[in-house]
Amino acid sequence: MSEKIAIVGSGLIGRSWAVLFARGGYRVVLYDVKEELMTQAMEVVQAQLHSLHESNLLLGRDPAECYTRVSTSTFLSSAVEGALLLQECVPEDVELKRKVFSELDTLVSDTTILSSSTSCIVPSKFTETLSHRSNCIVSHPVNPPHYCPAVEIIPAPWTTDLAKDKTISIMKQIGMKPVVAKKECDGFILNRLQYAVLQESWRLVEDGVCDPQDIDTVMTSGLGLRWSFIGPFQTIHLNAPEGVTDYAERYSDGIVRVSKQFGEPRHMTGETLEKVREYVEGEVPMDKHKENLQWRDGVLKQLAVFKQSI
Ligand code: NAD
Repeated sequence: MSEKIAIVGSGLIGRSWAVLFARGGYRVVLYDVKEELMTQAMEVVQAQLHSLHESNLLLGRDPAECYTRVSTSTFLSSAVEGALLLQECVPEDVELKRKVFSELDTLVSDTTILSSSTSCIVPSKFTETLSHRSNCIVSHPVNPPHYCPAVEIIPAPWTTDLAKDKTISIMKQIGMKPVVAKKECDGFILNRLQYAVLQESWRLVEDGVCDPQDIDTVMTSGLGLRWSFIGPFQTIHLNAPEGVTDYAERYSDGIVRVSKQFGEPRHMTGETLEKVREYVEGEVPMDKHKENLQWRDGVLKQLAVFKQSI
């Protein structure tokens, strides 16, 4: 019998995790405070397993067989009983995370890893007083996780190396690409990078340098094209004839000069927000939001297939 993973919270992210752990060969038990959401989650899991299989993204497994290993439980205690790892996916609210982790702490065995999907809350903020705190860790996925394999692993100061290494190994086994933070850092890695880009985009629009659509063009027809297969460091290494040292010698002064002008962070309000809203709602009308999400996921799926071939 395969080992068991418990998913606590069966919303958008919980469902995706269920697909990924089933793809990795695990038994998966989904739990949620709302029973109807678990029924919906099972339908989504089945559809996603078939969709991944059609695109050859199911690690060679049979979607029907994967699906037989996924079930639900209306009792948290039976959902987490005997689990190798539990993946918490409740809404992003530190008080709720504290409450859920405190309850889980009374139910899990001494070997279960308590892994949180939180996007931004460092694990020490909701695990400090737990008796199983040495098994607590954050595994932050990128949405949609079944097409974006990066996952940020953030140990708390008291997380053991054993728990960290086990989490990394499980993530690799299910086809994810773990990135391990060496210490806690507000915003983790992904969101710090994302916020830096968002803040500068905001400033450029607010200060009248360009329109919101220009930012998207620069990304989708410029920087983003490269970044989907090489990151910023490999990019600069290839952008100078003698590599990264050459790049640093040529461009570092300019980068420092421009970076000094970034200034204080801006709140996303007022006229700039109105300008951005007008632009995005023109491109992606709210009544077509669902269709556009499906389109985005479809394109990401094709990109995942392409990236598998390079
Ligand atoms: P969601 O609202 O879609 O799902 C949350 C689920 O948790 C709901 O089904 C809700 O009924 C359930 N829930 C609420 N209280 C609960 C409790 N006490 N016990 C069990 N279940 C409970 O939220 P989501 O988008 O899936 O986000 C979940 C977590 O994943 C958050 O921490 C979020 O920051 C993180 N995350 C989200 C994204 C994203 O893009 N949505 C990406 C990465 C990480």
